[in-house]
Amino acid sequence: MSSNSPAAEAARRRTFAIISHPDAGKTTLTENLLLAGGAIRAAGQVRARGENRRTRSDWMKIERERGISVSASVMTFDHDGLMFNLLDTPGHEDFSEDTYRTLTAADAAVMVLDAAKGIEPQTLKLFEVCRLRDIPIVTFINKMDREAQDPFALLDEIASKLALDPAPLYWPAGSGGRFKGMLDLRRNRFLPFAKPSADGHGHPGPVAFQSNAIVTHLDPDEQGELEEGAMLVQEAAKPFDPQSFLEGHMTPVFFGSALRHFGVDQLLEGLGAYAPPPKAVAAARGGEGTHIAPGEKEVTGFVFKVQANMDPNHRDRIAFLKLCSGRFTRGMKLKVQNTGRQLSVNAPVMFFASDRELAEDAFAGDVIGIPNHGVLRVGDSLSETGTVRFAGLPNFAPEILQRVRVKDPLKAKHLKKALEGLAEEGVTQLFRPQMGADFIVGAVGQLQFEVMADRLANEYALEVIFEPSPYAEARWLGGEKADLEDFMGKHRSAMATDIDEQPVFLAKSAWEIGYVSERYPKVRFERTKERA
Ligand code: GDP
Repeated sequence: MSSNSPAAEAARRRTFAIISHPDAGKTTLTENLLLAGGAIRAAGQVRARGENRRTRSDWMKIERERGISVSASVMTFDHDGLMFNLLDTPGHEDFSEDTYRTLTAADAAVMVLDAAKGIEPQTLKLFEVCRLRDIPIVTFINKMDREAQDPFALLDEIASKLALDPAPLYWPAGSGGRFKGMLDLRRNRFLPFAKPSADGHGHPGPVAFQSNAIVTHLDPDEQGELEEGAMLVQEAAKPFDPQSFLEGHMTPVFFGSALRHFGVDQLLEGLGAYAPPPKAVAAARGGEGTHIAPGEKEVTGFVFKVQANMDPNHRDRIAFLKLCSGRFTRGMKLKVQNTGRQLSVNAPVMFFASDRELAEDAFAGDVIGIPNHGVLRVGDSLSETGTVRFAGLPNFAPEILQRVRVKDPLKAKHLKKALEGLAEEGVTQLFRPQMGADFIVGAVGQLQFEVMADRLANEYALEVIFEPSPYAEARWLGGEKADLEDFMGKHRSAMATDIDEQPVFLAKSAWEIGYVSERYPKVRFERTKERA
């Protein structure tokens, strides 16, 4: 049990997520960060990708392949006096709400770029989410051991596509077969990269750049080129300014090879030095707007993710709570703000990478898993008094709407329960049309339907069929009661309710939304919904 104050404990937390385009090396980097942090002892190459690799958490992939104890959504390790919480974001191509919500719990993000590819579509999408939430970004340019783009071109791309000032802290010497290492621009020393034939963990120690010893690592041409590049970049790029980084205008840039465990220690050091501890969070307390500081006495937090138990025989779910303040201790009672229900948190799950010891306390920045039977939902605010409410986590209007039927009509009742369960977890959204018996399921990406069918079959023994629905768009409605009733009365066949019984308008096309918006100017057609 820590004797430090909640403020002091919060100050040594670094809670971050990794964002990247598939195949840029997120899994490999995760593994190597855990290695650098002393959380695991050996990293191997993550290979043998199964067919369904994209449908699974990347960590489950690591768990399967490495046999280490990785539990779902967060990994905690204590390193160099700091507590790092690494949040997993799903590794598949479909941009999911799950990813978005996980990012709401991150205080910083590492953006991994493949050095040969630069910024890819998924990187951009995820970056935009981070920007929306003012999450500071650290850049890691990966795969320098392969033929890479010119590092200046990569920096240009960061500046032009992301409108972010790149501030390299290191500068690479070559790439691919000619990758020799990198210059530490702050300390003016060279970090040699061991030849790929080595096992990857035995990179020689740093040498002063201007020393004679440099000739063992670089020939004169290479040395000259590196010197020139480093000079140029220091003239061209703004110097790293921690404040500008925290405000989201600048990104420190690291280079390396996750696979060869090169540059990863430096990245971790950079995260420790520059990534922010949890900050005060906007909230309402007893209805009054306020900010909850990490050092406040009352324990508060919000649920950003709910996951079904890994054990399919149990219907338990684990709610992931990001703590925002106070000292949480095991056995503590917390109240759910919107329902007033009280919960004794006797068996919180904490996710230590190295050993599974039950932590006795946790602080702002940490994530604890709370097993429950559906009491907790995504977006719930928990606190000791039950009076604190954090801004809701939005639901997004789905991009695909399908009708779902169960093959065995006798199981229709079960289907309803199962669909509600998955909707409460935030896997998919569920709409019940006012007319007709079929449910409409909405998701942001096609993959979510596959995951859903899989889970319905495995966890609920339900064989379902998804069919196209006539709808292309869903919008939540807002406005005065009389205006809403007028609209809904005239569009009964296109009205549905979501799992919170909120009215939703289902449209056959985006054009239709435009059309009704013009005809009903007093009704708002909203793309996102925050839970009331
Ligand atoms: P993810 O899809 O972003 O999680 O990417 P992975 O970590 O699974 O990596 C994708 C592929 O790139 C795998 O074959 C990795 O072995 C490989 N890879 C990852 N990092 C590096 C690196 O630094 N150098 C090289 N050469 N390959 C890498």
